[in-house]
Amino acid sequence: GRGPYDPQNVFAKILRGEIPCRKIYENEYALAFHDIAPQAPVHVLVIPKGPYVSFADFSQTADEAEIAGFTRAVGHVAASLGLEEDGYRLLANMGVAAGQEVPHFHVHLFGGAALGPMLH
Ligand code: 5GP
Repeated sequence: GRGPYDPQNVFAKILRGEIPCRKIYENEYALAFHDIAPQAPVHVLVIPKGPYVSFADFSQTADEAEIAGFTRAVGHVAASLGLEEDGYRLLANMGVAAGQEVPHFHVHLFGGAALGPMLH
């Protein structure tokens, strides 16, 4: 990852209940909620509950139960929102080059329309 985890990042505050979110799904290891500035008709963020900045952090530091719980949460949200048939996109921004704004690892789930070639 890029330096230590900042416990004051906005997703850490959401996980602690200090700021609200529109929750879609939660399990022991992950939380899914609507993005505050949607870029598609469906724009959901799925985050692990642990303190990971990047995918490298998450994939190399989290234990197997966390990795499974997070991965299953992503798939559960896609299926439960009815996106399997029409399709959807998963995207994760890491670091400066990708324009990661929130330094808590997260996956964007876009759907509900024909998507262009890229979405931030
Ligand atoms: P990144 O650029 O880090 O991949 O994406 C961060 C995403 O978090 C952006 O799409 C942004 O709209 C979203 N976001 C930022 N602050 C909040 C917030 O307080 N609540 C929610 N639900 N989404 C947020």
